[in-house]
Formats: sequence, C-alpha cells, structure tokens
Amino acid sequence: VKRVYRFGKDAAGVNVTEGSAHMKALLGGKGANLAEMANLDLPVPPGFTITCQTCMEYANASNVWPDGALEEIHEYRVDLEKRMGKTIGDDNDPLLVSVRSGAPLSMPGMMDTVLNLGLNDRSIHGLIAQTNNPRFAWDSYRRFIQMFSNVVIGLDGDLFENAIISMKRKRNVESDTQLTASDLEELVQEFKRIFSQYTPQDQYPQLVEGSSCAFPQDPLVQLKLAIEAVFGSWNNPRAVLYRSKNRIPDDLGTAVNVQCMVFGNKGNTSATGVAFTRNPADGTKEFYGDYLVNAQGEDVVAGIRNTSPISELKTVEGLQEAGSELERVFLILEQHYRDMMDIEFTIEQGKLWMLQTRVGKRTAASALKIAIDMHTEGLISKEEAVMRIEPQQLDQLLHPQFDANAHYDVLARGLNASPGAAVGKCVFSAKAAVEAAERGEKTILVRWETTPDDLAGMIAAEGILTSHGGKTSHAAVIARGMGAPCVCGVEALKIDAQAKEARVSGTSVVLHEGDLISLDGTTGIVVLGAVDLVSPSLTGNLDTILEWADEFRQLGVRANADNPEDARLSRSFGAEGIGLDRTEHMFLGERKQIIQTFILNDNADVRKEATDKLFTAQQEDFYGMFKAMDELPVIVRLLDPPLHEFLENPRDLAVEIARLEAQGVADEQLSEKRLLLSKIDSFVEANPMLGLRGCRLGIVYPILPVMQVRAIATAAARLIKEGLHPKPEIMIPLVCTVRELKKLRATCEQTVQEIADEFGVSLEIPVGTMIELPRAALTADEIAKQADFFSFGTNDLTQTTFGFSRDDVEGEFIPQYLSEKLLAYNPFATIDAAVAKLVAMGTDLGRKGNPKLKVGVCGEHGGDPDSIHTFHNIGVDYVSCSPYRVPVARLAAAQAAL
Ligand code: PEP
Ligand code: MG
Repeated sequence: VKRVYRFGKDAAGVNVTEGSAHMKALLGGKGANLAEMANLDLPVPPGFTITCQTCMEYANASNVWPDGALEEIHEYRVDLEKRMGKTIGDDNDPLLVSVRSGAPLSMPGMMDTVLNLGLNDRSIHGLIAQTNNPRFAWDSYRRFIQMFSNVVIGLDGDLFENAIISMKRKRNVESDTQLTASDLEELVQEFKRIFSQYTPQDQYPQLVEGSSCAFPQDPLVQLKLAIEAVFGSWNNPRAVLYRSKNRIPDDLGTAVNVQCMVFGNKGNTSATGVAFTRNPADGTKEFYGDYLVNAQGEDVVAGIRNTSPISELKTVEGLQEAGSELERVFLILEQHYRDMMDIEFTIEQGKLWMLQTRVGKRTAASALKIAIDMHTEGLISKEEAVMRIEPQQLDQLLHPQFDANAHYDVLARGLNASPGAAVGKCVFSAKAAVEAAERGEKTILVRWETTPDDLAGMIAAEGILTSHGGKTSHAAVIARGMGAPCVCGVEALKIDAQAKEARVSGTSVVLHEGDLISLDGTTGIVVLGAVDLVSPSLTGNLDTILEWADEFRQLGVRANADNPEDARLSRSFGAEGIGLDRTEHMFLGERKQIIQTFILNDNADVRKEATDKLFTAQQEDFYGMFKAMDELPVIVRLLDPPLHEFLENPRDLAVEIARLEAQGVADEQLSEKRLLLSKIDSFVEANPMLGLRGCRLGIVYPILPVMQVRAIATAAARLIKEGLHPKPEIMIPLVCTVRELKKLRATCEQTVQEIADEFGVSLEIPVGTMIELPRAALTADEIAKQADFFSFGTNDLTQTTFGFSRDDVEGEFIPQYLSEKLLAYNPFATIDAAVAKLVAMGTDLGRKGNPKLKVGVCGEHGGDPDSIHTFHNIGVDYVSCSPYRVPVARLAAAQAAL
C-alpha cells in the first residue's frame, strides 16, 4: 500500500501533486484539498501527506509503526528536501516544516499541530543569518519548543505562558511583541529548562541526556515524535467527545500533513488569517474573515489577539497585492468547489500562500441564503440547493429570539457570532457548566476565550459568551456548528475566572457565578437578568427551500399534536395533517379528577356521570382540533396509557397516611385515604407498560372508547353542519391480535353511525390501528383486513423489540452500551435496523391484506432525518412528528428522494 502522497511543486516549478479533492478518506480533508489547490495552480507550500489508514494501523497496533511506513516517510522527506533545495534543520539554511492533523471529516481544533519544526540550537543561527531577523528567529524557536512540549509531550501550556508573563514583568512591558530578540533568546533557554524538568524520562528514554531529558536537537527525532503525537491526538478525549457528538466514526483516523513553513510573522508585510468566501453567519455574498499582521497561524483561531476584518487587508501598506490575489483565489475556489469555502492563508513578506481550504461551516440562515443565491447565480441546481441544507440545522432557525416587546437594558455588546438567544446562569468554567447541566440548570458559559478543552462545557451550556476573539475564534466556530447562541469579543467584560466573577467596564456591574444573564447571538447583545424569549416562524429563505423540498419529496409529513394551538403551528410549518393526537394529553388538570372518579368507582351510575363529563370536554377538544385542521386528516388515538398514570402515586399516599397516623389523626378520618390507597394498590402492575393499556383498556372498559368515539363523531357532525370539512380518523393503540381490532372497530362503527343518524349527516370516519408490537407487525396481513390505515408506533415497537424500557434510556446501562459501542446509536432516537425490518415487513404484509391501506410512522423517529431516509426506502406513505420537526422532516424527506 502507498502511505504517502506529495503535493505542490518540484524544484523546477512543475506540479508534482499525487492527490486530489476526491481522496479525503485517504488524505483527510486538509491533505486532499491542499492537493486540489496545488492542482488548481494556487500557491500552496510544498509538502506531503501520510494517510489516515496509516494512523489507524499505528493506533490499532498500540502505537507501533506498520512495516515500511517509516521508510516511505523518509523517502518523501528526502524528496521534499530536494524539491526545496534545503534540508530540514540544516545548520546554515534550515528547511522548517509544520506537522498538521487533518481527518476526513472536519473536526476544528480538536487535534494537534506542531509548527516551526526543524529548529535547534544550531539551525536557529542559520535562520537568523538567512532572515537577518534575530527577533523573528528566536520567537519561532520559542514557539516551537512551547508547541512541541505541549502537543508531543503533553506538558501544561501554562508552564510556558507563566514564563512569558514573568519575562514581561521583568522587562516591564505589556505585550509579547515588546520583548526583544535577546529576551526571547533567554526565554528559549528557560523553555528548554522547563522541558528538561517536566518531561518524564521513562516515557522518553530516547531524549535522556545525563540525569534528565533534553529538548531534542535532531530534526528527524523531532519529526518522528511530532507525527506520532498527531496520530495520537486522534484519540485524545476532546476529539473522541467531538466525534461522538457529531456522529463521526472512530475508525477514520487522521492524516498527517508535513508542509514547508511559510511565515506570517516576518514583519509588517507578513500576516496570517482565516476567511470565508461568503458570510458564514448570514450568507451575505462578501469576503469575510479576520487577519493579523505579523503573526503566526494559531494566533488567529486561538482568539488570543484581536484581529482586523479581511476587507481592510487591501488597504494595508505592503499587503495590497496579496490582498487582491486573495480575492482572486476566493473566486477561483468558489467556482471550482461550487460552494462557500473556508480558507487559511499566510502572507510572507508580501507573498500569499494558501494553507487550507474546505467547505465552510455555516449557520442555518447562512446555509439557506447561500444555497438559494448559488442556485440563482447558476452555480448549483435546485436539487443541489435542497441537498445543501443540513436538516438538523433547521432547528437553529426555530431557535428562540428575544421577544420584540421585551424591555431590557443592554449590559454590553460583542460580535454576533452564532444566532439565537439564550438565558442562563453565568458559569466561568466548562466544568461548572457540565455540573449545572447535570442538576438541570441552564447556564451561559462565560470565558475569556474558549479552547478545545471547553467542549463539554460548551455542549452543556445554553449559550457562550467570550470577551476575546473574532468571529472565526474557536468559540464562534464551534458554537455555530452546534447551533448554540454565541456572543464573542465582548471587550467590556473583564473576567476573573479564578474568582468566578466578571466586571463590566463602564458600569458598576459585577457578574458572579449563578447570576442570570441573557444573550442574543443574532445581534451580539448581552443583558443582565432574564429576557423573555419567543420562537420565530417560517419565513423567507426557509420557506423557499422547503417549497423546493416539497417538489421532490414523496413522503407525506404530518404532525403529532393534541391541542388546537399546536395543530395550527404545525399547519403553518407545512404539516399535511395530524398523524397522532394523543388523547391522554387532554386528561390533565381538572379532568384528571374526573377520570380518577371513573377509575376508582365500580358504581355504574358514578362511572356514567364521569364519562358524560369527559364526553363534553373531549367534544370541545376535538371540535377545536378538527377546525384548526379543516380539510386535513386528524388521527385521534383512543386512550393509551396504563390507568394508574392518572392516579396518585401509592407510595406518596402511604407516606402521607403514615405521617397522619404518627400525628395521632383519628382512624375514622383516615379511612377514606386508606380505602383510596387500597384501590390504587389494586391497579398496581409489575410491568404497567406491558399491562392494562392501549386497546386492552377499551376491551376491559368499553364505555371509554364509546365516550371518545361519540365525542369525535359529534364534533365532526357539528362542524359539517357549520359547512366545514372535518376529516377525523380513529386509531386503536397497542393491538397485538386482529380480534382486538375487530371487536373495537365494531364498537367504533356502531357509535359513529348512531351519531350520524342523530345529526342527520353522513360520517365516514376511517378506523385504523397502531403497529407497535412485534406480533402486530408479524401478523399485519390479518390485521390490515380490519384496518383502514396503519401507523407504526416506533417508540413502543423499539421498546418491545429490544426489551429496553423507553422510559429509562437515560438510566444506567444504555449510556454504557453507547460508550462501549455495544449499541452504535440510541435506537429510540434513530430507527434500528431490526425495528425497521419489522416496519418494512408490517408495511408489505399490511398492503397484501388490504391494498388500500395507508401507512404512516408516528413514533419519535418520524422527525429524525436518518430514520426518515429509512422510512422513505421502506415506502411508507407519511411520517408524523412534533410540530417543530415538521420543517426538518419536509427537508429530510426531499433529500431521501433525491
Ligand atoms: C409510539 O409508541 O411510537 C407512539 C407514537 O405512541 P406513544 O409514544 O404515545 O406510546
Ligand atoms: Mg405507543
């Protein structure tokens, strides 16, 4: 196998690139796109890429190199030196290289990079002689030692930062740039000393000199260790967490790119920056990004120094030409990739170099605008435009915003880095955010800047607030990817993370941990206290893309809703009906009392009275629902949950009785409660979810379905009389044999007919069933003979197929199953293959039994894009999901069809 691929030009200026953009699985995103840019004749510093497969082989063999790999790397290193006419770490004219990670799927900032490799105590003098710039050279060397120590050896970055701080104190200067060449030379000595003190000898025997480790002087030792460290970073905890959060497989591995260094820190005609070909926050067609003059790579992304906007680059003395060249490159890249691109570049003494390009991450709003604009510009087809939007991302647009009518005072302003609004308690560390989330508290993570180590806290928090860094800082990029609101670069915020407080310049406000704040990532505003939030509606670009999606999709999309307000909302989101109205949700509040009376009294008259009351109430519920969904189908499911769910908890009641007994309350006064307890106890089942629920309730208590069906039919009859066109359908839950359905169907039909006669209208109300037990799926052909439609209840079907309780997913074992990969993913969120097989079998058998059968899915999976692909392939007629998932489902259904 070939493990190494080169990119860039040879000594004669001929392109000798071996890879291309299509080879991401092999070369990683960075390596493949470096090759592609070199093939486009863009200025790419030469180098070579070691494949992702080599990383996995190395990792799987417990960090032992596969046969031949080191020899191949050696060959390509010698080749690179020949192409450059320089040797890595040469005493007189050293070639310096960067060693960068680059996985097949982008994992921004999660893995490691080493810059300036090849410097040592001798080659530093070569670099000084070549550049005539001792300050630059010593600064490069100290950066190299610092990065190498941190990335390769794992030494704490603070050891080095503190040494810089004390040097600045000693020299009485404010910023790093005020340190002189000899200050930096002194720092290099100090850094090497720190390296020797902290590097564990047992782990690095090859570095031991005398009684401690010494900073490696041999460039080839440096290179080998750096490559190994980048391979190792594939499995560092933050990379593992990022992958599981973003469902990136663990077996892809990372490539390693060894590339000639170019320097953005060679003075005022040098710069480094990151940019997007369009605005990644709102999609505006403009060059967007930040740069720093006289700085090196990571300074920009790390958000450590405040940057300038890319639009100013062309106006800076000595950078104009490179600035124009950069704009030319932006256009070439967009035309070539036909997408919005994200770019890293360096300008070395006026000359532009491209260090990376990839398809740019963007907010949902930006994705919509870019897709529509690019279609209008003739760059992409309508189908491609629809495919460009990540369905999950649409959630962002349905994110809360500050209520336009809310009154609030702006505490501070920053950059609107990631849209949406959030309210939460201030926390000053990722750990505090995670702990608060475990207690169920909402937080805003307040940091000077974020680093990849903050990832867990960023996930746990509602929103992210930083005092430093631009719109391409780590916090901004990650927040946009997650869809979390983020305001960054709030300079007025003076954070003391140690003291867990932040002062706000120009005010007397001091924020303490736990104080409530609100932030709006759409506008960049920070407010003290909680601001009311509102959910936005479908507008503009979202509406356009969804209309395009509707042209392509084959699946219908309905909503799960049980009140007129949700029904109207889902209709405004494009739902084509209600796929599931869970009527038990209508039995809350005072109605709970009525149903309790029903359950706890054997007396037929009392029961009749209770059901009459329920009838009146339910009739109004259905009237509202059918009216809101006029002309569209509304599937009403008859009562489903175990009855004890409507009753008081027997344990609480027993405790109360015991307490009253202890207080000496007289027996007579307790008798009623005791009677209640014994009744409730009589309803207790060992496995209530497998007990008296679903259609079994209607069979044991026929008066209940009769009441519900009368209410449905009456509401429909009234609306017909008013000239509307209600389309109710009745659904029987948890059927396992056709006989259950046959019996209840007869009840339904008879009851509907009675109401039709009573009102003198014709009522055609289809009767169908849920398929949520394996036995039902396996006998679907028989069941379908009694059903007008099926709706797969994939929540219960998953529960009963796996034998996993759906109510305990967060409990003990499923999280462990997920982390040990005994389960690839949570089957209650994304449909499992075996459950899908039951759905497919049930659908096929059902249609054999009844060719007119309509088939839908109404479990949670109906709103999950991956599951929607599965249901499309199975060929069901529609999916049904919660109102806010309806836009997501419309888009996912179109993508499944394309
Ligand atoms: C199901 O089981 O998938 C379903 C939709 O019904 P419920 O969630 O109400 O049990
Ligand atoms: Mg169910």
